[in-house]
Amino acid sequence: MNNKVLIVYTGGTIGMVQDENGSLRPFAMNHIYDLVPELHRCSYQIDTCQLDHIIDSSNMTPSFWGDIAEIIEREYNHYDGFVILHGTDTMAYTASALSFMFKNLAKPVILTGSQLPMGVLRTDGRENIICALELASARQMAIPEVCLFFESHLYRGNRSTKVSAENFDAFCSFNYPSLAKAGINISFKPHLFLPTPDGPLEVRKRFDSHIAVLKLFPGISPEVVRAVLHAEGLHGVVIETFGSGNAPTERWFIDAIHDAIQRNIIVLNVTQCKAGAVKMRQYEASCDMDRIGVIGGGDITLEAAVTKLMYLLGTYPDDLDHVRRSLSLSLRGEMTIPDHCCH
Ligand code: ASP
Repeated sequence: MNNKVLIVYTGGTIGMVQDENGSLRPFAMNHIYDLVPELHRCSYQIDTCQLDHIIDSSNMTPSFWGDIAEIIEREYNHYDGFVILHGTDTMAYTASALSFMFKNLAKPVILTGSQLPMGVLRTDGRENIICALELASARQMAIPEVCLFFESHLYRGNRSTKVSAENFDAFCSFNYPSLAKAGINISFKPHLFLPTPDGPLEVRKRFDSHIAVLKLFPGISPEVVRAVLHAEGLHGVVIETFGSGNAPTERWFIDAIHDAIQRNIIVLNVTQCKAGAVKMRQYEASCDMDRIGVIGGGDITLEAAVTKLMYLLGTYPDDLDHVRRSLSLSLRGEMTIPDHCCH
């Protein structure tokens, strides 16, 4: 029996073709063979489906993440792998969100997209779709992860970041090597994959959007910091700090964060640097934050930090200790610490 792959189309540039007036419009997924006739030569079976609403990924929300996860949950036993066509702008967020939603994932779920629409001659979409399908259908190597494929690299989804609005090489994974590379041959690096799980797939779809991202900059004012931390209904904040997790040591700043923590707002420290990690207490400038209960996010990406916080707050709203503990663990390989387990 041939392997089977399901393509789930959500929108984005990859799905655009030019109409007779030259404007870009989304194509109907059942025309994919007209746009990529090479697919007729694949040795595996391809089926397609799409979200009810095709969107530019700037409009992505947790509710769409739920729709994507629901399709995969429903079709999980019928396919060997899944390819999700997605806009590039928020692809790393969706890849991260899905990684947390799927506990015990044993099959590849690969997001891909393109910088140029499918209907354009020089599109990178054709190559990206074909490679993602090859990887999702690879019989000898079922990658048990949510991944992101772009311009020859297969990245762990929750380690990836969009780095270019211009180049075909639009994504990077600064703190974890790529899981496979498509050159003349596809070279897999199975020692980097997450372990294949024992239990059955579980899908968790609750996210709490009542969080904020507070990006620090020299001269940030007390009014702005306090306004963010007093946003109505706020449950968590990701603070983007400097270097290895450093922040101002001024009293007003530490007091504002401490006050938020005492109001049960979860505060997670991630670095503004693309590569490297938060190391609380390495400098005096992070000692106070550590002392008052700010959680260090290690080398997590902002995309993974945001979605992990939303996922944990949505899934364990009545157990904030569990949320705090889980933030310092690697749940799906999103952080470089030895203790990765499934929660
Ligand atoms: N705005 C588009 C999107 O993210 C960009 C793209 O697909 O590359 O949906």
